[in-house]
Amino acid sequence: MADTRGPREPLGTNHLVTAARSAGTYCQSVPLVPNNGKLHIDLDGPSAVADLVEAARVIDPLKAATHFGTESRVVADIEDHLFFLSATNPGWFAPFRDEAVIELSDRLPMNVDVAANLLGGCSEVAVDAVMERLRTAPESWRDLSTLVGIGSESALSALADHVRREPPSGEWVNRLGVHVPTSGQAVRRFAPERTSMHAVESGTDGVTGLALDAVAADADEITWHYLSFDVSAAPGLPNWPHQALHLVSPRTYWFTLHSGVADDGRYTGAIVDDQGEPFDVGLEDCEANPRSSTGLLLRPYDADLTYRNGHIFMTPGVVGTAGGAPIGLDPTPNCPGCNVLMFHGAAIESRDYGEGFRSVFYCEQCVRVAVTGSNWN
Ligand SMILES: [Zn+2]
Repeated sequence: MADTRGPREPLGTNHLVTAARSAGTYCQSVPLVPNNGKLHIDLDGPSAVADLVEAARVIDPLKAATHFGTESRVVADIEDHLFFLSATNPGWFAPFRDEAVIELSDRLPMNVDVAANLLGGCSEVAVDAVMERLRTAPESWRDLSTLVGIGSESALSALADHVRREPPSGEWVNRLGVHVPTSGQAVRRFAPERTSMHAVESGTDGVTGLALDAVAADADEITWHYLSFDVSAAPGLPNWPHQALHLVSPRTYWFTLHSGVADDGRYTGAIVDDQGEPFDVGLEDCEANPRSSTGLLLRPYDADLTYRNGHIFMTPGVVGTAGGAPIGLDPTPNCPGCNVLMFHGAAIESRDYGEGFRSVFYCEQCVRVAVTGSNWN
């Protein structure tokens, strides 16, 4: 999720842009903001999706793989288009699923939760094609996330067998939010359904900026509250027996925080792993000036969000996301109670109390939570 925002390139010199324009679909007002400005197709119907796939087909795969130059920028823009499509009309992608997996996975790139919304229903032939590629590149992030995205019984069984055969690939599968038991198929520990969290005065699905004693029964380690939200307002998330799940932080930028949960839903007995390197620049100043509290409204992803650079955080008023796959910068925490990967609950981009991503995970069986924090990658 590297942020490669830069000056917009002049448009019109690229044949794909020209093709899109001649099809009458170029530069209409849509909430999709491709990061590189090289390709912009208004995804207003199935034929526009066909145009998008055709744009991928005509790209020279060798040039796309160089990670510089026009082709790779077009591919990055295609990724933003697929992200938007996955949230708005994933069904329109159905005719292209197998081709996307078998022939075009390098030119139709997608994050794992985009894949989980676009690739469900792929054929066995597609699963076999991915497994064939993994035989030569066992740790291919793209192929591992494609299997997770397909998500069928055969895909998740093949994935689990692969990880047991090639243990180093397990680290990547962990970051994709997938649990691999000692036997049986892999288990996605995230919901494909994605929900945006909007700061609104009257929102009742959650709240930001609470006093610490409202969310922590013993606040020795917990020094900041970002937000709390009602898990039942985010489709796809497993039940949580309390009113809210809290996204909190210890006084450092990079960490994994594990905590039990008291009967009243507040966190208790939090333990922080900062890998021995607490980094707390500016955090005590921040604590001295806490933010005012605001309500949250949760909404399924829709066409009104800004889809750019693989996330929606540039949408005005959006403070976080619930559901979807974990960001993947940190290992997904294991539950210390049952040793199953914890379920991804929500993520934010912090810009005040430490900079970077903060994610909350939980075990619905043991009623335990974990929060991870990492600086911008
Ligand atoms: Zn557990």
